[in-house]
Amino acid sequence: MASKDFSVVIIGGGMCGVACAVALHRAGMKVHLYEAAPKFEEVGAGVGLGPNAVQALEGLGILEDVVAKAVPPKLAMRPYTFISGYGEHEHLYDYALSSDELGLSIYRPVFLDALIPTIDPQYTHFNMRCTSVSLLPSGKQVVTFEDGTAVEADLVVGSDGIKSTIRPYVAGKSEHKQLASANTATYRALVSISELKKAGVKTDLTRPLLWCGSDSHMVTYPIRANELLNVGAVKVWGRTPSPPVTGPWVQTVTPEELLDEFADWGSDMKILLKHIKNPSKWFMHTVSPPLEHYVRDSVVLVGDAAHAMVPHLSAGVGQGFEDVYALYRLLIHPQTNASNLQKVLDVYDFLRPPRANMVAQRSRRMGEIYQSYGKDRYNRTDMQKNLRGMWEPVWHYDLKYAVSKELEKLYPGSKL
Ligand SMILES: Cc1cc2nc3c(=O)[nH]c(=O)nc-3n(C[C@H](O)[C@H](O)[C@H](O)COP(=O)(O)OP(=O)(O)OC[C@H]3O[C@@H](n4cnc5c(N)ncnc54)[C@H](O)[C@@H]3O)c2cc1C
Repeated sequence: MASKDFSVVIIGGGMCGVACAVALHRAGMKVHLYEAAPKFEEVGAGVGLGPNAVQALEGLGILEDVVAKAVPPKLAMRPYTFISGYGEHEHLYDYALSSDELGLSIYRPVFLDALIPTIDPQYTHFNMRCTSVSLLPSGKQVVTFEDGTAVEADLVVGSDGIKSTIRPYVAGKSEHKQLASANTATYRALVSISELKKAGVKTDLTRPLLWCGSDSHMVTYPIRANELLNVGAVKVWGRTPSPPVTGPWVQTVTPEELLDEFADWGSDMKILLKHIKNPSKWFMHTVSPPLEHYVRDSVVLVGDAAHAMVPHLSAGVGQGFEDVYALYRLLIHPQTNASNLQKVLDVYDFLRPPRANMVAQRSRRMGEIYQSYGKDRYNRTDMQKNLRGMWEPVWHYDLKYAVSKELEKLYPGSKL
């Protein structure tokens, strides 16, 4: 593909920024990526990708690289089985699937490892913390960095995560990040499945499980070919968004705190929690209120910078990959150039906020369902009624068609 007459910089090299950089490079666009950290890094935890996320990665041309590094290296869909967090962990519900749905569970660092070697290092810049973005009279954007340097570009992609520095610019509120605490903490850990079996856990941990409770729930799923259990034990203390937590959002806590928080839970859950040696506690935050626009001037938000959400549908990065796919298709179109870039970005802004904000809202509702089981609240039948179909609007969305339809309107009769 011929190179474009406009320049692009990407701010933030998490999963979304890296996916964006790799896909655009492969399409022939020499974009530069600026990352605040000294190297690409991801937390040592798994991430679940639904069929919509897989479709986006496939459209970006990077699915094969990612699947090749996954363990096992193939797409599969293992929906959650819902069980009671209490007593002997009564079975509540199996989420039903149609046969053509394929997803992927992958260890986050592996996702980056699969893609990073494919980026030419001359286009990646580390220790570059963006401090601001603004519009020049020329129509270009200027991005400034903590070290006092600056770069100009025709398009800035803000993929700088939940604490985004770019978001206030797009939201038009210079100091306000539109961030709220979800009054929820997730205790995260990886535990050896064979050790748990030896310790007497009877529940089959090789399936993805959702352990439901009252104002708490736990998510477990196996990674690395059933070697390790990815654990997220969730505690909630309020439903109305409140100001962000002051102090670190990730803290190492004592095993005792973890056991205290889930003291009323059932037998296998207790064994499992006792095996967590160094639990980390993550205070959950969201973009709140949701952004109506993900674009201002020639600055575009993707991923958590645009729509950080609670993780209860395992859909946050999937929405980020959808953003990146939509942007990629719009940018690489042969008729997209500097003169019509703004119109192209308007299409992105038309497509993405309603979709991603809907998924964010649904994720919040899903958390309420998981955390409403027992203690005179939802019984087994209520749980089944409420859980049924919750993932369908997330997984079943024809993103390729949605983008093609808008491209057809933008460039009638052109080859898409
Ligand atoms: C407990 C938990 C479980 C989750 N599970 C799932 C799941 O199963 N499935 C799913 O789809 N999603 C899940 N998510 C959501 C998912 O983790 C996020 O949506 C995803 O990581 C966001 O990726 P990102 O690239 O947008 O942002 P990030 O991963 O946050 O990357 C942002 C990058 O920008 C860099 N950066 C930040 N500020 C600056 C700056 N000023 N200048 C330059 N660089 C900067 C950072 O260093 C970082 O590298 C989960 C989230 C949590 C908290």
